Amino acid sequence: MEKTDIKSMNLEELISYMESIGEKKFRAKQIYQWIHQKGVDRFDDMSNISKALREKLEENTHLTALKKIDVQISKIDGTRKYLFALDDGNVIESVLMKYKHGNSVCISSQVGCRMGCRFCASTLDGLVRGLTPAEMLDQIYQIGKDIGERISNVVVMGTGEPMDNFDNLIKFIELLTDENGLNISQRNLTVSTCGLVPRMKQLADMKLQITLALSLHASNQEKRKSLMPIANKYDISEVIDACKYYVEVTNRRITFEYSLVGGVNDTDEDAKELSALVRNINCHINLIPVNPIKERDYVQSNAKVISAFKNKLEKNGINVTIRREMGRDIDGACGQLRKKYIDRKETT
Ligand code: SAH
Repeated sequence: MEKTDIKSMNLEELISYMESIGEKKFRAKQIYQWIHQKGVDRFDDMSNISKALREKLEENTHLTALKKIDVQISKIDGTRKYLFALDDGNVIESVLMKYKHGNSVCISSQVGCRMGCRFCASTLDGLVRGLTPAEMLDQIYQIGKDIGERISNVVVMGTGEPMDNFDNLIKFIELLTDENGLNISQRNLTVSTCGLVPRMKQLADMKLQITLALSLHASNQEKRKSLMPIANKYDISEVIDACKYYVEVTNRRITFEYSLVGGVNDTDEDAKELSALVRNINCHINLIPVNPIKERDYVQSNAKVISAFKNKLEKNGINVTIRREMGRDIDGACGQLRKKYIDRKETT
């Protein structure tokens, strides 16, 4: 029989579970806090729980605990890239970024990805599976323990398409923002999507206060299709409508991510078309100089082109920033650390 995934349960579910195994209700809260506030990885560390109950839990439930297999630390800005092993042997990566306003963790939502974006390393080997809520949470718990500091911001921008793992994503958000857990404010959480339109609308209707980031990367349907296969399924106009809907329903400003690829989407004409596309949307554009991966021949736009692109958007009254490159001296684009690890394993 498959063991119950106790770290993915909310407090209510844990209460029902405790009752179903003949335990008192208040035990659920104690155990929940051990797992989600104190971050213990073993039932044996739950000192106010009887040995008999700890043994019962050990036998019937599973307490997800990721194992750190590698960490690279940037000498420039303290960014840390972690490689974690899941209990089934799959590996994922997560990143810690240190900012003046606090510690931010970028998590993976899936093992691999099936979206196929042309410039992205995470999708090269396809999708293995979605992560459980516990596996998403534990990236944050383990990093918090590793650095001995509080994590204040979370971005779901690592490997995987979060909207392709929707139910687990929503459960993860519930647990992450729970006052009996890490209690991270919804406003300090960003979820990035390549644009699964029905899921974006579903998320909007939940009226959460999280930030939605939409990976746009092109200002018209043709170009977007050449970079992102998902554009074959949802036309750019439908995606933009879903963004407008999100802003309207939640009253939250949306972020557009735009990876600048040399000679592909970085011309004056692109900037003009982009400005028109997002006009009248309460938004912010985050320009990301593309991080070249060896499997593709995309190159970064040069610095002059990037700043001209930014200026053009600003002149058109658009809020825009260029993403600061964090941890430049350690493994580059998302998914590259994991990919390198898998490739190395396969050749040995
Ligand atoms: N699947 C989600 C979240 C993961 S990707 C999404 O598509 O949004 C996070 C962001 O990094 C996305 O905007 C993605 O398009 C971008 N990205 C991926 N690989 C990149 C690369 N090599 N260079 C620049 N941006 C990249």
